[in-house]
Amino acid sequence: MEYMGKKVTVFGSFVVDLMGRTPHLPAAGETVKGTVFKMGPGGKGFNQGVAAHKAGADVTMVTKLGRDAFADIALNTMNELHMDTGRVLYSETTETGCALIMVDENSSQNEIVVILGACNTITDQEVDSLEDLVARSEYLLTQLETNVSSVERIVDIAYRKGVKVILNTAPVQPVSDDLLGKIDLITPNEVEAEILTGIKVDSEEAADKAADWFFSKGVKNVLITLGQRGVYINTGEKKGIIPAYKVEAVDTTGAGDAFNGGLLAALAEGKNLWEAADFANALAALSVQKIGTTPSMPVREEIDAFMA
Ligand code: ADP
Repeated sequence: MEYMGKKVTVFGSFVVDLMGRTPHLPAAGETVKGTVFKMGPGGKGFNQGVAAHKAGADVTMVTKLGRDAFADIALNTMNELHMDTGRVLYSETTETGCALIMVDENSSQNEIVVILGACNTITDQEVDSLEDLVARSEYLLTQLETNVSSVERIVDIAYRKGVKVILNTAPVQPVSDDLLGKIDLITPNEVEAEILTGIKVDSEEAADKAADWFFSKGVKNVLITLGQRGVYINTGEKKGIIPAYKVEAVDTTGAGDAFNGGLLAALAEGKNLWEAADFANALAALSVQKIGTTPSMPVREEIDAFMA
């Protein structure tokens, strides 16, 4: 299949997920013999970039790695997928990020420590070096997992160049009105929408109120993901809910990342926001049927077959 989409940039985190399963989560000072260990690529930015790429988008992924073995996990994954590694940034002093994930195999509860490492040290100069790349892009997709100063700076460049910015507000933290005023499309989940707006998104009316709050800050379009219920969209002129696909979910970690990557790929192809949300729902529905984050992102053929 020939991809007809415009160029897009994904700017965000990379961490190596180190996952151990255990009969019970250890108490402070306790050592527990775990049962299964898995290691693989992760990080919200990287997951979203991979999802968009596998969906067929012309993605340039920007993240920051250390000079270590964990960096090779990112680079090997990108090379295997034929992704451009040319704009990856490197720290000579800080390690590649990692997430220490413990999963209780009885309750499925988890405890996670994420050490963002290199991708939390992106400097102003490094962001400024991306100006040519951003300027050539139709869309910039970013999140809140790298240092906030880097997010603010890259969004500002995109805004000045007239490049549309999609902000996925994960992991949620306070954002400035200045940043919000430069966002074309914001994509919080329900919890993030509530934390940012102070409005509990438990009905469509409440979602309308949350959307109005974002509009008052200058955000152009609002999309709130509602888990297995799908997504709420409000463009100011038109609003509604696009239902999710009904599937047997086995692992919903990374559902939001799958969704955002799919949304980006579809928008870059010229689909409207409603069509793009349906495509993203399909991509996310495929991803929740598999365990893992980056590896569970479907390829374009699977998405098209699923939607047919
Ligand atoms: P996050 O992973 O950020 O918490 P959500 O839980 O809102 O985000 O999920 C994002 C998207 O993933 C949803 O809008 C939907 O398209 C899809 N999704 C999530 N859970 C399911 C599910 N159980 N079945 C089908 N689709 C799902």
